[in-house]
Amino acid sequence: MTEEYEEGLYRENIIDHYKNARNFGELKDYDIKTKELNLTCGDQIQLTIKLKDDKVSDVKFEGAGCAVSIASASMLTEKIKGMNIKQLKELNEKDIYAMLGIKLGTARVNCALLSLNTLKKGLKEAKL
Ligand code: ZN
Repeated sequence: MTEEYEEGLYRENIIDHYKNARNFGELKDYDIKTKELNLTCGDQIQLTIKLKDDKVSDVKFEGAGCAVSIASASMLTEKIKGMNIKQLKELNEKDIYAMLGIKLGTARVNCALLSLNTLKKGLKEAKL
């Protein structure tokens, strides 16, 4: 596969997650609920997470923003289901970039990382 072709597939995947966001909504029964904003773009994401033992048993997000921020949140909710607290804490920027798979301009980095920042904020607030 050429790099261009591969990047095209990733772009299509981002658009798909943006238009058909996975795990969209709000959990009624949750252990973590938090919201974070990306002021540079006007994106906002809310995460609700239900834990069972120390693993994510369910997660939903709500939000509004650009395609990159929504797709990143949608993909992250799929990724973290079943993860334990330690794994959640180990998630970093590289995981998000790998998940999105496209080169991001500096203006888009904050959009891409909003989902991760929201998750980290939630873990902190819940004192996990
Ligand atoms: Zn954005």
